[in-house]
Amino acid sequence: AALFVRSEEEPAFRLRASVGIEGPLPELSFSEGDGLCGDVAGHQSPVRRSGKGYHAALRMPQLTGGDPEGVLVVPLVADHRVLGIMVVAGKSGSFTQDDEDILALFASSAAVALSNSLLFEKTLELERLKSDFVADVSHELRTPLAVVIGNLELLSDDRFWKLEPQQAQFVSAASTNSHRLLHLINDILDFSKLENANLPMTRSPNELGEVIRQAAENLRRLFEEREINLRISIPDDLPLAEIDEQRIAQVLTNLISNAIKFSPAGAPVELSVTHDGETATVRVKDQGEGIRREDMAKLFRKFSQLDSKSTRKAGGTGLGLAISKGLVEAHGGSIWAESEPGQGSSFVFTLPLLQLTDDARAA
Ligand code: ADP
Repeated sequence: AALFVRSEEEPAFRLRASVGIEGPLPELSFSEGDGLCGDVAGHQSPVRRSGKGYHAALRMPQLTGGDPEGVLVVPLVADHRVLGIMVVAGKSGSFTQDDEDILALFASSAAVALSNSLLFEKTLELERLKSDFVADVSHELRTPLAVVIGNLELLSDDRFWKLEPQQAQFVSAASTNSHRLLHLINDILDFSKLENANLPMTRSPNELGEVIRQAAENLRRLFEEREINLRISIPDDLPLAEIDEQRIAQVLTNLISNAIKFSPAGAPVELSVTHDGETATVRVKDQGEGIRREDMAKLFRKFSQLDSKSTRKAGGTGLGLAISKGLVEAHGGSIWAESEPGQGSSFVFTLPLLQLTDDARAA
């Protein structure tokens, strides 16, 4: 028996699997219309031959049984396209209509499976191409944007020149929006690298508490602008965690800035950590408008922004939570949201903690 599959590179069918052919799988192919198999590929219906002497027409390598008696050639058809040809030969006597019906039935299921697997391979390939393209484009966009941002900073530096108030306003608007654009490009770049599993990550034993405090400190201006009081609670006995400090800080920055964005001015935000010796649970809790139950599943999807007044007002890319999820999961943790509409939201993530040996603990 032999299975020929339509080649992607050339207009031919190639031998991909066989049983009962002498030696290793030979390099063998045929085109439509070429020999008995080529005819079956052309008219898409099975062919049966009995007796001997058709072997030349079959254009197959020598079979172990010598010149076989009886052959059955069945096409694998999906969506009116022949994906492959199955040949069985060597039954003593001849193949019957029953044999043909059974093999045709098998061939139709095999064709569907083959078509699905080809589609799946193509989808993976397209995904890879898309991610590479997005990564390349984002990278190329960053270089000229860095020049724009640098020059705008220079323009707004009053040590060098004094701008008229309206000029200063224009420069400031251009600067804010260039930073927004840079943030968006960085998010897209990170996300495509995460999707491709090639976001570089350097993990080392770190004090999670310090990373959390630093991330909060970096956002102090935002807290002050919105008159939001941040309450931090971190236990003293928190073990070290093997993390990429920058990436976990990125997750925290995203969750904390969301909490600020979606809180009314003056409402407190709580940042707390608990642990059970094996896992740390980090919780960012706000008193904003909360999230509707039906929206919870959409939160961590890429480019997903919920349709609410505060979302439209806050702006953003809809990538922050998708990236945070990817980063937390790359660390072996998980992330989720808890919320009741009108009662604020909590974004919670876990991280595995380093298990110290008794000796290391004593030291
Ligand atoms: P971005 O904030 O950049 O739009 P995110 O992925 O961080 O993207 O968030 C996606 C959406 O989830 C937000 O647009 C908002 O609708 C919702 N969301 C996130 N955090 C909160 C929060 N703390 N309270 C209410 N809604 C939130």
